[in-house]
Amino acid sequence: SSTLSIKDLHVEIDGKEILKGVNLEIKGGEFHAIMGPNGTGKSTLASAIMGHPKYTVTKGSITLDGQNVLEMEVDERARAGLFLAMQYPSEITGVTNSDFLRSAINARRGEGNEISLMKFIRMMDEKMQFLEMDLNMAQRYLNEGFSGGEKKRNEILQLMMLEPKIAILDEIDSGLDIDALKVVAKGINHMRGENFGCLMITHYQRLLNYIKPDFVHVMMQGRVVKSGGPELAERLEAEGYDWIKKELGIED
Ligand code: ADP
Ligand code: MG
Ligand code: MG
Repeated sequence: SSTLSIKDLHVEIDGKEILKGVNLEIKGGEFHAIMGPNGTGKSTLASAIMGHPKYTVTKGSITLDGQNVLEMEVDERARAGLFLAMQYPSEITGVTNSDFLRSAINARRGEGNEISLMKFIRMMDEKMQFLEMDLNMAQRYLNEGFSGGEKKRNEILQLMMLEPKIAILDEIDSGLDIDALKVVAKGINHMRGENFGCLMITHYQRLLNYIKPDFVHVMMQGRVVKSGGPELAERLEAEGYDWIKKELGIED
């Protein structure tokens, strides 16, 4: 199984240091959650892993199975087996969902190993039914006029079709009603296994009621300041973040 390893990661936006030494290791078979107050750099971490050009890594490393992720272009990161929900432009005109997914799968599989159209259609139908999606979604233009819930569900469809080694899901729960959240959770839980590791970034504990993390990390002021098991998320839900700030002597 795979390992995504983040070591002493420092990231700047417009010359301002946001991440100040993040250490994190995610292995195949493991579900991790990062929680933390708003503005502490959680999304910055996701963006740095995906290679967003606005985020400059000034120090530290990100590797996937020993390969230097920071040297890879965005599409190379995807081909290497990283999946980032939100990585795609919100709307691409003139590309159907189905076309987009097939080219993404084929890019990941590589030349000479493309998926057959029949196999692709069968796989897409099966996954869409599993996610209780309207089959017409396949022929709609990517994200055009999708509701918030449809977009999230579609991201989980992408996840299930692409079968990445490691997925980073930033606020995959935001704006979902409870039924949509359950479906999204069902999809992510279905991925569980030796060959799949997941990092869920969430502001709320709610998601973690449906997807049990093996590890929970708290991020504050650009660092992972505390790690534990699922009980840590429960304590945060009940008591907020103040006790951690006190414990660490952090001021607001
Ligand atoms: P979180 O996801 O934990 O809420 P973010 O990573 O979004 O936190 O933001 C961390 C800090 O970086 C905040 O102070 C935010 O204002 C700043 N920031 C994030 N994105 C940008 C950006 N594109 N340009 C300038 N500042 C940014
Ligand atoms: Mg935020
Ligand atoms: Mg965020």
